[in-house]
Amino acid sequence: MLELRPNCELCDKDLPPASIEACICSYECTFCRDCVENRLENVCPNCGGGFTARPIRPGSEHRSGTSLVRQPASALRVHAKYDLEEIQCFAASVKDISPELR
Ligand SMILES: [Zn+2]
Ligand SMILES: [Zn+2]
Repeated sequence: MLELRPNCELCDKDLPPASIEACICSYECTFCRDCVENRLENVCPNCGGGFTARPIRPGSEHRSGTSLVRQPASALRVHAKYDLEEIQCFAASVKDISPELR
């Protein structure tokens, strides 16, 4: 099950479960769309992979046992372990390779 993290790991913006700005990599590293497009160049600083929009988990239990009511979003804020300069240097070295070829 996807871990719905509460914030952008770079700028710390809140990304609640219904946010349409939340982007994730295949490891669930989570960033806002502004950071993905303008600072990360679609390169995850933790794994080098690309991003996609985070799916929105329904707030209501349309099927038994599902929804945010049964599996709530994580409250544990996550922060990037690299500084912005290092992240942008890393992104520059990877961004010209499309995600499917990385
Ligand atoms: Zn951000
Ligand atoms: Zn990642």
